[in-house]
Amino acid sequence: MSRIAIIGAGVIGAAIAWELSTLPGQEIHVFEAQSSPAQGATGAALGLLMAVLSERGAKKRLASLQRYHQIQTKLNLPGDQKGILHLYHDPQAWAQVQRKIPQRQKAGWSLQTLSPEQVTRQFPQINTTRINTSHLIGAILSPQEIQFQPIALTENWLNLAQNQGVSIHTNSPVVSVVPGQPIQLKLPDRAYCCDWLIVSAGLGSTQIPGLTAPFQLEPVLGQAIEILCPELENYPILYGNDTAIVPQKSGIVWVGSTVEFSQSEPPIPNAEQLDQLWQKACHLCPILQSKSWQKQWYGLRPRPVGQPAPILQIDPQFQGIIWATGHYRNGVLLAPFTADWVRQAIENQPV
Ligand SMILES: Cc1cc2nc3c(=O)[nH]c(=O)nc-3n(C[C@H](O)[C@H](O)[C@H](O)COP(=O)(O)OP(=O)(O)OC[C@H]3O[C@@H](n4cnc5c(N)ncnc54)[C@H](O)[C@@H]3O)c2cc1C
Repeated sequence: MSRIAIIGAGVIGAAIAWELSTLPGQEIHVFEAQSSPAQGATGAALGLLMAVLSERGAKKRLASLQRYHQIQTKLNLPGDQKGILHLYHDPQAWAQVQRKIPQRQKAGWSLQTLSPEQVTRQFPQINTTRINTSHLIGAILSPQEIQFQPIALTENWLNLAQNQGVSIHTNSPVVSVVPGQPIQLKLPDRAYCCDWLIVSAGLGSTQIPGLTAPFQLEPVLGQAIEILCPELENYPILYGNDTAIVPQKSGIVWVGSTVEFSQSEPPIPNAEQLDQLWQKACHLCPILQSKSWQKQWYGLRPRPVGQPAPILQIDPQFQGIIWATGHYRNGVLLAPFTADWVRQAIENQPV
């Protein structure tokens, strides 16, 4: 029997916990510092699974999206989604995506190209006339790219893991680690020994005394807004100009950006950037101008410094320690891929 400890119950720790629970002969414990799961970056995320038209890291993203489609019913999450409508205003990006479409379709991904006229007919709330100085050139509907509410997703994964015998400990910060065999974890009120330690603590991953992360992480601000807009209820997710408009149930709509760089250190919510995000969303979909914000929130994305996200690495120095963190903008998307990678690392390297 091997003992496995997972630090962090964000979407990454939760996906790993469930994946490892399918291995025979493991005793698995998840330690989460907060009083409930998904309180870090995961709790702020929009939960978009954007992969099919990606340039960078496409292989991992596509594998992860595929895995979501395989496990969606087990995860007990809604399957009646309408996909993502990618809106293009930049001729260069449009030309690039045209080259990609046949490759992706050949690999089995469904993609439908829409002219601005077709967009207007099918989705009259979308502005096809002008974004700053440019017009909508065309749109691609990608029905297999979907969205999950990140908190519900994380909780469902943890529930499934718990049903398979995994122990989840909230209010349990790991205050230090002593590497070795066994690896010793110190918590405020107890200690725990394990053979494998998975560090999936988001931005907290590099802050645990006793562990020396072979990489650095930096926090990158992400902000979002919630409004009520029943007019978009049957719309797909709209994505254009780095801005996502994400219809939920009951007329609720989330608005967020995939890129946002704060000038301050550490990053703090920034009213000017939030306003820019809102202006961009209103350009894409003018009806938003008439809506008032129900709530707004922010989170810090864990970005690896000087290397691509995510960090999936067996510790080069200490046996049994696996780093699964630094997922930056795509932790929700990459959770199944990450969990699969961790399972294979453990299966291939018995301690
Ligand atoms: C506004 C916004 C929008 C986003 N939208 C998307 C999106 O649409 N799609 C997408 O794929 N990604 C999105 N992301 C990125 C995504 O949120 C992150 O990549 C992902 O949540 C990272 O998950 P994680 O589990 O690694 O980290 P976290 O969610 O931060 O979880 C880490 C957990 O570890 C715990 N922890 C830390 N230290 C310790 C310790 N010492 N002991 C015990 N527990 C500890 C923390 O309390 C926390 O619960 C978005 C992010 C933001 C901010």
